Amino acid sequence: MSMQERIRSVEERIAAACERSGRQREDVHIIAVTKYVSLDTAREAYNSGLSNLGENRWQDAQEKWHALSGGEQAPDEEKPVWHFIGSLQTNKVKDVIGKFTYIHSLDRLSLAEAIHKRAAQLGLIVPCFIQVNVSGEESKHGLQPEELPAFLDKLADYPGVKPIGLMTMAPYEAEPEETRPVFRALRQLRDEVKASSPHAEHLIHLSMGMSNDFEVAIEEGATWIRLGTTLVGKEEE
Ligand SMILES: *Cc1c(COP(=O)(O)O)cnc(C)c1O
Repeated sequence: MSMQERIRSVEERIAAACERSGRQREDVHIIAVTKYVSLDTAREAYNSGLSNLGENRWQDAQEKWHALSGGEQAPDEEKPVWHFIGSLQTNKVKDVIGKFTYIHSLDRLSLAEAIHKRAAQLGLIVPCFIQVNVSGEESKHGLQPEELPAFLDKLADYPGVKPIGLMTMAPYEAEPEETRPVFRALRQLRDEVKASSPHAEHLIHLSMGMSNDFEVAIEEGATWIRLGTTLVGKEEE
């Protein structure tokens, strides 16, 4: 399938999921995850209208970032908006902050402190998603749900970090419907914390749903879906 055909097919599926759940299409944003594809394919995705690109390791992202966003000549509106979606080592913060607009994997205070310090040097405030391990799988990063309120309170000490939402990954399920409780739980957690925490004013977004399960995630309230394989493809090395 060509990029255009894949985009069209994903758009139809998003529209149907919005229709089923009474949501507006414009409330669901797509991150094209380019970690499995070459620079040329990432460029094609961007040129096909996928303006938000996601990567989960700086080592793998840097060639694409420099090629698509490194030049000074083009205005920012003509460059991708980058999302860092993988687990972020503290010593990589200096590389990533200032290049990636959004961080989806804030999962510890030491990382918040590092982001805050780097943001202060650059005069930035960094919109971040707090990663929550809703499913309880040991292999997944993220806070336990019950840790979230205290974590938000402590984040107030790091004003360079702006918590704008929650992020989770569901376990891979052969039957995507089985991911629904994970996504529903993340939405409920956001609603509860937003109602009760003085520091959750901007906690609006839900970053959830990947190639296998994005339709269920949309039905449960996802505002950012992260699509690699089904949207931009997966290339062999
Ligand atoms: C790789 C990755 C994705 C995209 O995965 P696909 O299943 O190919 O859509 C989404 N989110 C995160 C955090 C990832 O690491």
